[in-house]
Amino acid sequence: MAVDGSSAEFRRHGRAVVVGASLAGLRAAETLRERGFAGSLTVIGDEPYEPYDRPPLSKQVLLGRVPADGTALPRRRALDAHWRLGVAATGLDLAGKRVRLADGEEVGFDRLLIATGTRARPWIREEEAGLDGVFVLRTVDDAARLARRLDAGPRRVLVVGAGFTGSEVASACRERGLEVTVAERGPAPLVGALGGVVGEVAAELHRRHGVDLRCCITVTALGGDAAGRLRRAHLSDGTALDVDVAVIALGALRNTEWLAGSGLAAGPRGIACDAGCRAFDIHGIVTDDIFVAGDVARSPHPLFGYQFLSLEHWGNAVAQAEVAAHNMTSAGPDRRPHLWVPTFWSAQFGVNIKSVGVPTMGTELAVTQGSLTERRFVAAYGCQGRVIAAVAFDQARWLDFYQRLIESAAPFPPDFPTVDRRPGGLRTVPADFPDPALPSHGPTVTLSGYSPSEQRITFTPARA
Ligand SMILES: Cc1cc2nc3c(=O)[nH]c(=O)nc-3n(C[C@H](O)[C@H](O)[C@H](O)COP(=O)(O)OP(=O)(O)OC[C@H]3O[C@@H](n4cnc5c(N)ncnc54)[C@H](O)[C@@H]3O)c2cc1C
Repeated sequence: MAVDGSSAEFRRHGRAVVVGASLAGLRAAETLRERGFAGSLTVIGDEPYEPYDRPPLSKQVLLGRVPADGTALPRRRALDAHWRLGVAATGLDLAGKRVRLADGEEVGFDRLLIATGTRARPWIREEEAGLDGVFVLRTVDDAARLARRLDAGPRRVLVVGAGFTGSEVASACRERGLEVTVAERGPAPLVGALGGVVGEVAAELHRRHGVDLRCCITVTALGGDAAGRLRRAHLSDGTALDVDVAVIALGALRNTEWLAGSGLAAGPRGIACDAGCRAFDIHGIVTDDIFVAGDVARSPHPLFGYQFLSLEHWGNAVAQAEVAAHNMTSAGPDRRPHLWVPTFWSAQFGVNIKSVGVPTMGTELAVTQGSLTERRFVAAYGCQGRVIAAVAFDQARWLDFYQRLIESAAPFPPDFPTVDRRPGGLRTVPADFPDPALPSHGPTVTLSGYSPSEQRITFTPARA
């Protein structure tokens, strides 16, 4: 039964549909029930599994400490939901308020949450990607296959791309005692996410742990034997490597293709929505019954110049899903904005890396605590005279303090005494991010708004 537009009516008898049965989808479904939503709840997911957690896949699972099927997300409550797992949503009828499924069925909704996330960017040539020994890492099946292959003791693993996932894979391989080469197009690991200064520290971490790190290098081709097994990788410097495992870690693609022609503002950069998680249509008008959350969303943030941020961060998926579910069940004045300050963590080579804010907006950087050479520090990023982000290597406990600086637009360089600041005063250096127009392994934060000094999108109107 379709309900009228009233939120109270929706809470009692409405039909809520969630597409994407992972972190954001599950947390949104739980929040709907927590907020007293008593109507019908359908959760649609193309993976055949109950929602599971992805961060352990590149960490504990690759190290063999947790089985790939042991990463189910904990449930906060019983859901009373109709789960449609193992079937993809293939289309959206905005006017008719229906989601089309791959099995031909259609599911009607009064309010819809889209949380279809991202998938791993595949290797550039399909026939090479199909060689036995070439892997990506996004799903529980990917992790199980890769962990099994690492158990078999390959002679050398090639990691293509030294972003967070690539670096974590390299770290797990070294911890297992495997020979690893990392090929990175940029000048250092993590450079797209944290800039060249911190990237140099990451490079040192790789080398100290025995990684054969090749920067400013691309892999041009993968070659196999007659049986279709990966044997060799060709590099842009003309050399070749004998490898029997290659992990392609070239960033992620947003799962928006199923919305083509739906009329929603969905594309390769994600689904645009307002700070209340309501999706925009292609005319830039906000919808009132379609909500977006997690890795697939891009939304404006007042703290960061109203730029549209696309975040591939675990914490963002949870926080945005909760706000989306709150707003799905609330009347206009009670709705809340999603004003989460981005935070991200990674564990690699025995170091805990954590960031807060949007480092990629930083033009300058100052080490405010500890030292880069000891690989134990906090660095603050500055943008137009204010603190915009901070990153900590093995110093995460200080990041709440830096978060408050970001939230209060504190001046950069920071003008306060800090614990463990080294003599010689505070030196400000360029943060040294690569030109975002050049393809890289994909930073975890993509800025895609309109800053007057930095217009990266050319608008081509449709022909009449
Ligand atoms: C290996 C790995 C390590 C990570 N480590 C960290 C970390 O250390 N720290 C951190 O902050 N973040 C980390 N992340 C990122 C974090 O896991 C994501 O931010 C989070 O999973 C996003 O959740 P989501 O629900 O938005 O999207 P996803 O988890 O991508 O889920 C989307 C779901 O929707 C499904 N789907 C897609 N299209 C359709 C369709 N048409 N119909 C139905 N279902 C569909 C997908 O198959 C998937 O199940 C890591 C990610 C990976 C892959």
